[in-house]
Amino acid sequence: MGFLDSILGLFSLDLGIDLGTANTLVAVQGRGLVISEPSVVAVRKGTNQVLTPGGVPAVGDTAKIMLGKTPGNIEAIRPMKDGVIADFDITEVMLRYFINKAHGGRYFSPRPRVVVAVPSGITAVEKRAVKNSAMNAGARKVYLIPEPMAAAIGAGLPVAEPVGSMIVDIGGGTTETAVISMAGLVTSESIRVGGDEFDQCIIRYIKNEYNVLVGDNTAEQIKFQIGNAMPDHDIERLVIRGRNVQTGMPREIEINSQEITEAFREPVTAIINGIKMVLERTQPELAADLLERGICMAGGASLLRGLPEVISMETGLPVGVADDPLTCVARGCAALLEDLDVVKQILDCEGN
Ligand code: ADP
Ligand code: MG
Repeated sequence: MGFLDSILGLFSLDLGIDLGTANTLVAVQGRGLVISEPSVVAVRKGTNQVLTPGGVPAVGDTAKIMLGKTPGNIEAIRPMKDGVIADFDITEVMLRYFINKAHGGRYFSPRPRVVVAVPSGITAVEKRAVKNSAMNAGARKVYLIPEPMAAAIGAGLPVAEPVGSMIVDIGGGTTETAVISMAGLVTSESIRVGGDEFDQCIIRYIKNEYNVLVGDNTAEQIKFQIGNAMPDHDIERLVIRGRNVQTGMPREIEINSQEITEAFREPVTAIINGIKMVLERTQPELAADLLERGICMAGGASLLRGLPEVISMETGLPVGVADDPLTCVARGCAALLEDLDVVKQILDCEGN
């Protein structure tokens, strides 16, 4: 690290950013988590002109409320939705908004260094786009860290040691599975199935079984309330509202948790297969470590009832969920800010 950088480092408040498919979290060095908002931007349709109702840009919380409720000329976009950057310009707008919100308004403060966790599956072009966006948004230096690495650090796994740790981070759009040893991803796999897919399964199931359409936000609420990845003796019921496909009229129906478990079968299988694929590619010595140390889950969807249990059953490994799994990645990034030498070690492993 250069001398100038060390001096600037004394004054600047560096940022750690979890640029997630569902939520973006920002941690400020020494202050912890300061932002946690949905990765959503509302724009005028067909443009990347962000709406500014009441002078405030419609990004994050303000924009998520609009999902599925916008009139024809407005669009609420999730630019990272499937773990790839669907729209570079809008991703940049979003990143800039969050960086300014976390860092802006300071009278004297050098431009921050920023550690951004990105899905491990993104392409070199996408990486460059994220890096440029963060620079344009005011960063002095940008480090990109693979999301499973940040999650593992946030979960407190001994990533730098010569011992195998497995992290399964299930977010909105992706499931990122990795085996980590000596600050590197030994094997990893990113599949485009995550919490959103569970919501879509609920929507399809209710449409097929009851001829009723429910929106994304309603489906997510159903998942939170009675979602279960594993068959359970206790059956929970819930009355939900949607629109009848044939008559077009609003309707109320009752569904139960067993039906939801049934609806979840496909994505649960996909996630388990992704994990098994990584296990099969893991060297025997590391696999032996995993048998003893088990799998650590992170990401919002690790909170889905029954999911850790079913993964443990199918893999034969112990499975635990990290403390506060939704903030693991951001906390991992923040921890890295304190120790940029480790960042360099990780980036060396990554071949950057
Ligand atoms: P990303 O990193 O992709 O932004 P997150 O880690 O923030 O994603 O997780 C978001 C996903 O987690 C969403 O699909 C959300 O519905 C799901 N989720 C959050 N809390 C819960 C919960 N208690 N039960 C089930 N799913 C949850
Ligand atoms: Mg995530």
